[in-house]
Amino acid sequence: MAIATINPATGETVKEFAPLDAAARERGIAEAQSAYEALKSTSYAQRGEWMRASAGIVESEADDLARILTLEMGKPIAQAKAEVLKCAKNMRFYADHAEGFLADEPLQDPSAVGASKAYAVYQPLGVILAVMPWNYPLWQVVRFAAPALMAGNTGVLKHASNVPQAALWLDTIFERGGFPTGSFRTLLIGAREVEGVLRDPRIQAVTLTGSEPAGRSVAAIAGSEVKKSVMELGGSDPFIVMPSADLEAAATTAVKARVQNNGQSCIAAKRFLVHADVYDEFAKLFADKMKALKVGDPFDESVDVGPVATESGRADLIELLDDAVAKGATVLAGGTPVDGPGWFFTPTLVTDLTDDMRLVMEEAFGPLASLYKVADREEAVRIANQTTFGLSSAVWTRDADDEEHFVRELEAGAVFINGMTVSYPELPFGGVKNSGFGRELAKEGIREFTNVKTVWRG
Ligand code: NAP
Repeated sequence: MAIATINPATGETVKEFAPLDAAARERGIAEAQSAYEALKSTSYAQRGEWMRASAGIVESEADDLARILTLEMGKPIAQAKAEVLKCAKNMRFYADHAEGFLADEPLQDPSAVGASKAYAVYQPLGVILAVMPWNYPLWQVVRFAAPALMAGNTGVLKHASNVPQAALWLDTIFERGGFPTGSFRTLLIGAREVEGVLRDPRIQAVTLTGSEPAGRSVAAIAGSEVKKSVMELGGSDPFIVMPSADLEAAATTAVKARVQNNGQSCIAAKRFLVHADVYDEFAKLFADKMKALKVGDPFDESVDVGPVATESGRADLIELLDDAVAKGATVLAGGTPVDGPGWFFTPTLVTDLTDDMRLVMEEAFGPLASLYKVADREEAVRIANQTTFGLSSAVWTRDADDEEHFVRELEAGAVFINGMTVSYPELPFGGVKNSGFGRELAKEGIREFTNVKTVWRG
């Protein structure tokens, strides 16, 4: 895949970038290694100051940055701006909390292990490789980088090939805030070069956010090198609506949860499981709201849904939809092709799904929603858990017993009750099953790339 900015709203190649040669790649890793030697002995207060300064730069350049995101991957401009500001918030969050999250942890009763004192300390590991996707070009990276740098690690980034301008902006943001040169390095390389970088002895661990095939490949290489890995992979999150739900609010949130970021979010609700008692009413509300969305130029502030980011991404959606329709699915909204330039896909809602349809088990990465009628909460759980994914989930109910049941039974890294899944710096984020392993954000995220060193004194 060429490293290039290609405007998904027009299909036009805006700018191509040459991949780094071997010498430049080596220089990037060497700089990250020597930055680590400097960074690991700095104080949290110092790193916090640099992180807050970096956040200030992000905020002051938010409009320009938002335009880069919208140009390169097509998200509506207001959502691009919100993504940029969320990055700054995450940077400040870790500037404030890293020291507390990584404070020494004494064992309350050291005599239980025959010690006068015993405690755990959290130390950085070194240079961490980040392999990142294009869907949230800034947020996915900062979600990793802010805690990693605050812990005293440094990072090298292999970003998705279609967001090189965002990747190059990230290359300097932390040193502009004051971090040692090389604390964070973008390597403009193709996916095939990842293996060589990961096998480099200076790379201590890897984090990957992306598709399941990419995750399997990179996790296998990390395993063969006995290097720690965190995997944030795909999802096909269920959104369950029970009879006690506020249907109007549920339908409004359902639309947002499906089409936000042009439908290309790992934690987007993708499968909507609705109790038979309220199915007809919810289906109508949902379909009407999907039909009312404005699709078009993502730089137009009034647009709700822009193009799918890549030509192949749109082709995948069309294939999933055609397969379902050919096997008997009913289209309740959308489903019509979009003529003209760019990779637009009309927000679409389908129902009457059967197990032989690919859409039932695969991830639809775009504004394509699947609607199911379920007889009871047991059937909802069965369908919710039948995919190989387990990222997040949402449940709409005002019944405490139902709530408890779903929280216990859903195979997912999170359950959001009467809301949609959102990632917050304050809450751990990650999946189970083929959605990956490890956690980002909160205390759990910053501890992933640390050596939890036990200290025992007799
Ligand atoms: P992708 O094709 O897996 O790409 C992600 C990154 O991995 C890119 O930098 C890509 O580089 C690289 N890559 C691809 N194949 C690789 C391989 N075999 N070895 C090493 N690196 C490889 O995913 P995407 O299409 O950009 O993103 C969509 C997927 O990401 C969806 O499945 C979505 O659910 C998932 N996702 C998950 C989360 C989460 O937090 N769980 C968040 C966002 C997205 P190139 O661009 O050069 O190919």
